[in-house]
Amino acid sequence: MSPYLFLLVADVLQTLIKRASSVRNPLDPRCPCPVLQYADDTLILLRGELSDVQNLKVILDQFSAATGLHINFHKSTAVPMHMGEDLIPQCIDVLGCRREGFPQTYLGLPLSCEKLRVSAFDPYICKVDRYLAGWKASLLNPMGRTVLINAVLDGQLSYVMMAVPLPLGVITTVDKRRRSFLWTGEADSSGANCLMAWDKVRQPRAKGGLGIRDLAVQNTCLLLKLLHKLHNDTQSSWAKWVRQNVCLATLEGEIAGSHWEMLRSLLPLYQAITTVNVGDGCSTSFWDDIWIGDDCLSDRFTLLRSHCKQANQSVSDVVRHGLRHHLVPRLTPEAQSELSLLGVLLSQVNLEDKPDSRCSLFADVEGNLRTSKLYALIKSMGTADGGVVSCFWKSCAPPRVQFFAWLLVNGRIQCKDNLLRRKIVQDNSCDLCNREPETTLHLLFRCPFAASFWRALGIELPPGLDIHDVHKISRPDTIPAAHFDAFILLCCWHLWKRRNGITFRQETMSLRQTLQACRSDAKLWSCRLPRAEQHLGDLWCSLFSLAM
Ligand SMILES: [Zn+2]
Repeated sequence: MSPYLFLLVADVLQTLIKRASSVRNPLDPRCPCPVLQYADDTLILLRGELSDVQNLKVILDQFSAATGLHINFHKSTAVPMHMGEDLIPQCIDVLGCRREGFPQTYLGLPLSCEKLRVSAFDPYICKVDRYLAGWKASLLNPMGRTVLINAVLDGQLSYVMMAVPLPLGVITTVDKRRRSFLWTGEADSSGANCLMAWDKVRQPRAKGGLGIRDLAVQNTCLLLKLLHKLHNDTQSSWAKWVRQNVCLATLEGEIAGSHWEMLRSLLPLYQAITTVNVGDGCSTSFWDDIWIGDDCLSDRFTLLRSHCKQANQSVSDVVRHGLRHHLVPRLTPEAQSELSLLGVLLSQVNLEDKPDSRCSLFADVEGNLRTSKLYALIKSMGTADGGVVSCFWKSCAPPRVQFFAWLLVNGRIQCKDNLLRRKIVQDNSCDLCNREPETTLHLLFRCPFAASFWRALGIELPPGLDIHDVHKISRPDTIPAAHFDAFILLCCWHLWKRRNGITFRQETMSLRQTLQACRSDAKLWSCRLPRAEQHLGDLWCSLFSLAM
C-alpha cells in the first residue's frame, strides 16, 4: 500500500481510539489514550481494566472490518504494567495476543520501566558480530580496519547510545571484539596480538593515539544532547513532558527511575559546558550554572555556599525571595563578607518575563550540541600532546604507512627484540648483520646496511638518536624542508619492507634496489599532496637517483 494511503488509514484508527471515552488514558482520565504509530509499529497505552480492553477490541475489530486491513493479533503482544495477576489472563484472552514483559523493542530501542539488564543489549552485540563476520578482514590492513570500526561499528551503536547509557559489561564486550578485529581481523585474540595498550589506541590522534572511539565517553556526550534538548528544543514532546514535571534548574521533581537518575548525574557536566542568559531565572541553578560572570557562584563564593542548607535554588527563587533564609543562622565573618559581595552583584540583576536561554561553545549556529568537539575535549583532559606522532597523521604517506609510523615512534613495530619480549621468538639477533639485537633503532638506523643507506642520502644521524625522536633528525640542505617528515618516513618504510623481504621471503636486496623502490614510491606519495606541492615528488626522485 502506498505510504500516504497507509497514513490516512492509520489516522482513522488513532481518531477512533482517541474519541472513544470508554478506552481510557492509564494516568489522566481527562486525556485521550495515547496511540503511537511509526511505519507498521503501533503502540497503544490504555488503562488495565477489563472493560477498557473489551472496548478497545471492539474498536479494532470495527476498524478491521471497515478497512479490510487484517490485524495480526498473534503477532502482537500485550505488556501488563501494575495490574492484578487475576485480571491479566482475562484481558489477554479478550485481545487474543501474546503476553510479554519488559524490555520491549520499540523503534529499535529497548523500552522498559525498570533498569535495563545487560542481556537487553544482546541484539546490539549480535549486530556487531554480524558485521565483523561479513567483512573480509584478512584482506584489510589495520588502518582499513580502523576506518571500519570508527565509521560502521560505532555508527550502529550511536543510535542506542543517544537514548540509553550502555552498561559497562556491554562496553567491555564490544571493546573486546573491536580490539581483536583491529589487531588480528578475527573475533578473538590474545593480549600478545595487541601491539599497543587499548587506552592508548582510544586516545585522539593529536594525543598520540589511534583515534578509535572511547564508547563510554561517546555515550556521555550523546546523552548530554538529551539535557540540551530540555533547555532548547520547543518541539520535542519528551522535553515538554519533562518540563511540566521537574524543575529544570535542578532536574528534581515528579520523574523517577534509573534512566532519569542517570540523566541527572550528567547535569554538573552540562552546567559546566553551557552559559545562561538569564530571562525569568526559572531554569537556571543559582549556585551551579554559569549565569553571572565567567564562573559559577559556588566556585566564586565557596564559603558562603558551604553555609547553605540546601543548594538547589533557582536564580528566580533567590532573586525574588532572597538568599538569607537558605543559609544557616550563624555565618562566619568570611562568609558574611562573601554575602555582602554577592549582595552587590545580585542588586544588579533584573529578571525578565522570558525563558532563560543557554549557549555553549560546543553548539553550532542552529544551537545543536556538537558531540565531536565535546568528545575531543573530554578525551584530551589530562593527557599530554601527541607531539611527533600527530605530524605523521597529517603527512602524505598512505594510511597503512601512517599506521606503521604510529607503531614506530611508540617503539612497537614487530622487530625481533619486541617479539622476544613477548616470547614469540627465541633469540633477537639481527637477521641482516647477525651482530646485534634487532631493536627498532638498530634495524632502521644502526645496522650497517641502514647506516650506509642514510649516508648515501647525505643524512647525518645524531649519535644519541632515540626512536621517539625520529622527527629530530636534522635535514641536509639538499633535501627540501617541506614534508621532510614524510621523506624520513618513506625511507624507514622501505628499510622495514626490505627487512621483511629478507626475513620472510629470503629475498636479497642491494642498496641500489632499495633506493629504486624508494624512488618509485616517492612519485606515488607525492600525488597525495596538494597540486602546488606535487613537484616535491620529482625532487625526491632525483635525490634517490643521485644516491644510487
Ligand atoms: Zn643488523
